[in-house]
Amino acid sequence: MSTENDVKFTDFPLLETIHQSIRQAGFERPTPIQAACIPPALEGKDVIGLAQTGTGKTAAFAIPIIQRMSGRSELGALVLAPTRELAAQITTMFNQLGKDAGIRVATIVGGVPISEDHAALSSWPNVLVATPGRLIDHIENGKISFAEIEVLTVDEADRMHDMGFVPQIRRILSALPRKRQTMMFTATLPDDVERIARKSMHHPVRVQIGQCAPAHRAQQELFELAEDAKAPLLLKLLGKSSGRVLVFVRTKRGVDRLARKINARRIRAGRIHGDLEQVHRDKALSDFRHGRRLILVATDIAARGLDISNIEHVINYDFPHHAEDYVHRIGRTARVDASGLATSFVTRDDRRFVNQVRKLIGENLPNPTRLDSYSAKPTHSAHRSKRR
Ligand code: AMP
Repeated sequence: MSTENDVKFTDFPLLETIHQSIRQAGFERPTPIQAACIPPALEGKDVIGLAQTGTGKTAAFAIPIIQRMSGRSELGALVLAPTRELAAQITTMFNQLGKDAGIRVATIVGGVPISEDHAALSSWPNVLVATPGRLIDHIENGKISFAEIEVLTVDEADRMHDMGFVPQIRRILSALPRKRQTMMFTATLPDDVERIARKSMHHPVRVQIGQCAPAHRAQQELFELAEDAKAPLLLKLLGKSSGRVLVFVRTKRGVDRLARKINARRIRAGRIHGDLEQVHRDKALSDFRHGRRLILVATDIAARGLDISNIEHVINYDFPHHAEDYVHRIGRTARVDASGLATSFVTRDDRRFVNQVRKLIGENLPNPTRLDSYSAKPTHSAHRSKRR
């Protein structure tokens, strides 16, 4: 991601307290998605932002919402996020940039006792960040009044779609006032999502930042190998690694199995997937974030949108079956002002998925290096030395 453009935050007519918080956050210049989204959003226009995580998209919608909600007493803005972790990160951004401007943000997510929601709602929030499932529970039992909602933001709409949240989104839309500003952020625009956008938005301004191109500073490498050669190669890579490594596995059981294998080698790895209790997910995330564990094994959904800086290395242990997931996974490394390496393991059966990724991101994707099929030792040994 780059922040190289001529736009400055001071070009935006924001409250001085917001400018101050932006400075305190260390944001010197708006990122391209912020430069493009903030002006129309401040004018109250609907916005479709095509951008993946790592582009600064959260602040792109948070800043205009903070300006509009500043000092307001009733609930006026709703932000929907696909996962609890992303909801937590969005909440952090609102607190970071909006607290001094009088933003009171509440977070409503599944996996925590409902009494916590009631406590959060009793603080008279003016901004609510929620995952769809839990929000629907509150709509059904009439616990939240949406009458004054003026701004709706749907973040990572494509992921909401992949996770089967489209009916919930429709249900939530039907509970909101029709007259409102709607913003939608998504890395890709599947037909279903585009249909919802068309139905629920009014002449949206469409802003597209490097659609589908993985963070371009990430160096990518692909190894074609047999399924049973994957674990030995992974352990070898982990043994040599010194920075933070995020390992993607396709299934929850696969995450458990691989984390066990890694830990058996006395390399300490955390794991994160949707079946784990929230406290364990939070712990794994915080251990990884703070460097107590340098390896995190995760499924796509659990890792989606995680904003952890300085991930040196992303490893696609299982090659993703959806090309967009490749883009999202690679987006974990080479975030703002960082560079990184993305390694993918490709089996014979994965070839068609590699071709799909190539269709999506073009020649950016290198050809797989073939490793000696059934040997645990890669024949190609230059993969680490390439960048060191
Ligand atoms: P996001 O794409 O919203 O997940 O943001 C990715 C990271 O960029 C977060 O750690 C933000 O704190 C950071 N960030 C957002 N806006 C800026 C900016 N204008 N300058 C520098 N960093 C930023």
